[in-house]
Amino acid sequence: MAASYYMKLYYEILDDRKMAKLPDRAWRRCLEIFLYAGELHQDGVLPPTEDIAWRLRVDEDDLAEDIELLESVGILAQYGEGWLVAKFAERQAPSGIYDQGYALHREEVYKRDGYQCVYCGGPPEHLDHVIPQSKGGGHDIRNLVTSCARCNLSKNNKDVKDWYPLQDFCSADRLRNIAYILSGENDDLCQVGAENE
Ligand SMILES: [Zn+2]
Repeated sequence: MAASYYMKLYYEILDDRKMAKLPDRAWRRCLEIFLYAGELHQDGVLPPTEDIAWRLRVDEDDLAEDIELLESVGILAQYGEGWLVAKFAERQAPSGIYDQGYALHREEVYKRDGYQCVYCGGPPEHLDHVIPQSKGGGHDIRNLVTSCARCNLSKNNKDVKDWYPLQDFCSADRLRNIAYILSGENDDLCQVGAENE
């Protein structure tokens, strides 16, 4: 039995060009997959395509096509043998925790970070929690940074210290900037930066 009865959608989907270009069928599949992920209640982790196809009573080949499209817009990511719904925790969190400050924060954070991903310099698509929420990171502006969809998905709930140095776009300057944003709360990030120079 699912512990929650809903999944949330965000208004900004309407302004997301990649989402807007999805065919109607993929859109419907997206909503069904959200609901299925909610029902499973395992942090957004979905079973293999075959099992999703059975649960949704759809053709497996058609579903594979839809999943590919949803992966291309950052809604789904490959995870082991199956799939993972991106930002599952946010999509299922009770209204209020995320919604209140989020819209306000977004513009502030994007502006502070120069409208580019703090990790790779890519487009401003997501807000990323530098310290993952699963590790106690808050929703305040000091823990939120501008991120592109690719980095956000790739970092997921990993610690920035473990994830970032392994990326080929890792830069000591950017790490210093992130440490500065977190201002003192994460001094050990500067250490990682020094090691990478
Ligand atoms: Zn990025």
